[in-house]
Amino acid sequence: MNTKIKEIRIHTYRYDTPDIGLDRTGAIPTYRPGDTFTRAEGVLEIETEGGIVGQVAGWPRVEGALLPAFKHALLGRDALDREAINRDLKLLSRHYGRLSMGIVDVALWDIAGKVYDAPIYRLLGGSRERLPCYSSTMNGGDSGGLSTPESYGDFAEQCLEMGYRGFKIHPWPGRPISEHIRAVECLGERVGGKMDLMIDPFSYYRTFGEAVKVGQACDAAGFFWLEDLYMDTGVSEPAHRRLRSLLKTPFLQGEHLRGLEQHMNLVFAEATDFVRGDVFYDGITGTMKIAHAAEANGLDLEIHSCGPAQRHAMAAMENSNYYEIVWTHPDTDIPLITDELYLDFKDGIESIDSDGTVGVPQGPGLGVTLNWDWIKRQSIGTETL
Ligand SMILES: [Mg+2]
Repeated sequence: MNTKIKEIRIHTYRYDTPDIGLDRTGAIPTYRPGDTFTRAEGVLEIETEGGIVGQVAGWPRVEGALLPAFKHALLGRDALDREAINRDLKLLSRHYGRLSMGIVDVALWDIAGKVYDAPIYRLLGGSRERLPCYSSTMNGGDSGGLSTPESYGDFAEQCLEMGYRGFKIHPWPGRPISEHIRAVECLGERVGGKMDLMIDPFSYYRTFGEAVKVGQACDAAGFFWLEDLYMDTGVSEPAHRRLRSLLKTPFLQGEHLRGLEQHMNLVFAEATDFVRGDVFYDGITGTMKIAHAAEANGLDLEIHSCGPAQRHAMAAMENSNYYEIVWTHPDTDIPLITDELYLDFKDGIESIDSDGTVGVPQGPGLGVTLNWDWIKRQSIGTETL
């Protein structure tokens, strides 16, 4: 079969989510009845001479910004040459934050799965068919189900009842640190010892001191991990090495880094415990490299966010604990991957079974079917390379 890349198509679409607004920084979605959160995302299609089309959808439009610049590096190349393509795109994108190379890699893995008629996780040697999930909350708002520290405890109990064995809070942007600490205490009191508890304040604590205070509350409540606490955005090696020395709770860092070397710098600096990976940033190829390098250091890789590619990558790892179901909220249904995008795949709060797990798509490649009727209705353009 001729697997040379013949054409690349970049489709973008936009859709509204009701009752979600942005905080004053514009960076943090929160529950806000009456507001509307507009999201712009893309589908990348890479078509081969033999007619196989690799597809990857649901990435933020800005993540695809460099795709047009990859035209000459991709057209005419063998779509199965993932390692060499990965190396070339790393060079090509080096001045621009390494945007877009990860989503190309996922599309190439989708092609490989379709060529070999196998799901991606099987090509990677994976054998995990069910993935344990944690409920990863929407940031709390000023009203509704996540507006008080106690309401996080209520929601954790609901999630435990549903089958979740892990629960991560994204607290409130802008509220006093004392309320964050109280939310941590509530979770410890209500579900401590019954669920693995995590906190991700989206890097919005103003100072190292606030990070220490919340971390000490997490120590007392027996938290499983602390993630991206303060304004360094989770990248400072000395700061996290020092935080780790002051606290008991393990850290999960690396979500805002791209690349194998950068992730390993964090590990070698002893600035994290769990290692974060993201398949849209580093591709499946890069994320597996990071997972194996983490394994060599005796550490686990935890995949950021959800979606078909995220499930395949996690299913191929032995050293990964939880799949992240984003976003969850007691009052509103706002999955990070909209239910409209696929005909046969969902990542909402209800997607788990009673054991708190999700499955891995079993069709060739990513094993999912895009809902083109909906994508075309919401289209804001297609660029063909
Ligand atoms: Mg995070």
